Amino acid sequence: MTGQSFHVAIIGGGLGGLCLAQSLRKSGIRFTVFERDVSPSSRPQGYRIHIDPQGSLALHQALPEPLWQIFVATGGQFAQGFTVMTEQMRELISVRADLRKIDRIAQHRSISRIHLRRVLLAGIEDAVQFNKRFLRYEETQQGKIAVFFEDGSSAEADLLVAADGIHSRVRRQYLPDADPVETGVVGIGGRIPLNGRAMQLLPRQVFDGPIMVLPSSPFSLFMALWKPAPEAQEHLKLLGGEFAQDDEPYLIFSLGGKLERFGFESSSQALPAETLRQAMRMAMTGWHPNLCALADCVDEAEFGLFPVRTSRPIPAWKSSRVTLLGDAIHSMTPYRGIGGNIALKDAALLSSQLAEVQSGQKSLLDAVAAYENSMRTYAFAAVADSRKAMEMANGAKHPVLFPAAKLAMRSINGILRWKRAAAL
Ligand SMILES: Cc1cc2nc3c(=O)[nH]c(=O)nc-3n(C[C@H](O)[C@H](O)[C@H](O)COP(=O)(O)OP(=O)(O)OC[C@H]3O[C@@H](n4cnc5c(N)ncnc54)[C@H](O)[C@@H]3O)c2cc1C
Repeated sequence: MTGQSFHVAIIGGGLGGLCLAQSLRKSGIRFTVFERDVSPSSRPQGYRIHIDPQGSLALHQALPEPLWQIFVATGGQFAQGFTVMTEQMRELISVRADLRKIDRIAQHRSISRIHLRRVLLAGIEDAVQFNKRFLRYEETQQGKIAVFFEDGSSAEADLLVAADGIHSRVRRQYLPDADPVETGVVGIGGRIPLNGRAMQLLPRQVFDGPIMVLPSSPFSLFMALWKPAPEAQEHLKLLGGEFAQDDEPYLIFSLGGKLERFGFESSSQALPAETLRQAMRMAMTGWHPNLCALADCVDEAEFGLFPVRTSRPIPAWKSSRVTLLGDAIHSMTPYRGIGGNIALKDAALLSSQLAEVQSGQKSLLDAVAAYENSMRTYAFAAVADSRKAMEMANGAKHPVLFPAAKLAMRSINGILRWKRAAAL
């Protein structure tokens, strides 16, 4: 199939699926997104997400210019730095982008998942079907892919793209050995509304970007602020429609550690907020009083425990008219904050390959193979990297190597500070 019109069925209207859809629309390729959510705002989308330069580039490639401008205008503040500190709130290293040298497009951003979905849906609503829960697929005698949904309906496409996230049903059917595994690490915490008390407790570095607290015990604490740009709502209104809003500033507060270190037996136990808070406070014994007090500010209704899962590399498979992107194939721990960015990168790469099919330069199967060969390399490198970061943060810290690493970070930090001061 080269130089022909073809139809793509995308299962899942999350980050990766909708980014792919936007990009296909730009190239004039026909597609339908099938999303299980009942409506665009029927499910809270989760906390704010960090978009890195590669994610920004992918979104820029996918979105028409006016939508890109809205995406930029609705981003949050406090995204240009990253700090590592001790549990006594002593800075180990703080990296900040030089605001004068930031690329206009390929830069770090923070965005509400609710706002991002709203932007990604704009202009393609005609090709997104909600309340469509994928069940299974089969190859037809004509070589197409027939897709079946829980409501008894079906659809046909030339290419099926699994963008249905970590619990992907498409993957379970297509690559049953590629299921992700639990790492044994869990995150407990939630969001803290930024009222007066919480504001007084925050480390100042959190206004530059996310913070990772590394104590000498086998835990780690992640904190990141969400505050939308003041004009975000004005820009979102340009998109019309009824959507949930995500305007109230908050702090994400998540303590990571091995399940058994928190004293829990199973990550699927439904635990009351107070039990989780107590486990958190126990793990934070001896920490800086401000951090302990912040643990008390986590919104009761938001307190949760989530198991950290990861995919594992699998041998290359033979490319076909079914392919996968994002968490459906390479879910990773959140310890590098890149899972979503890699999903966006997949979408950009797959759509540029499909544009070559559309223009007659490639066959559909060659395009899928080129995408998968490249994706497997960078995505599973990111999977390994994020797993390593998780293990370093939450493993038993070596009595000699950990203090040496802290010393190295402090030394580099001294140089960075000196450079920043010299540049003023
Ligand atoms: C705590 C945490 C923090 C994170 N922070 C970051 C970050 O800062 N930056 C970053 O880059 N990444 C981050 N990630 C990872 C990021 O959230 C994921 O990698 C990203 O959402 C993957 O996008 P996706 O499109 O592949 O899947 P998803 O965003 O999960 O989308 C999948 C979609 O498929 C739909 N779906 C599922 N099953 C079906 C079905 N049967 N039929 C139809 N539709 C279906 C779902 O409803 C959903 O809309 C974080 C992850 C966690 C857990």
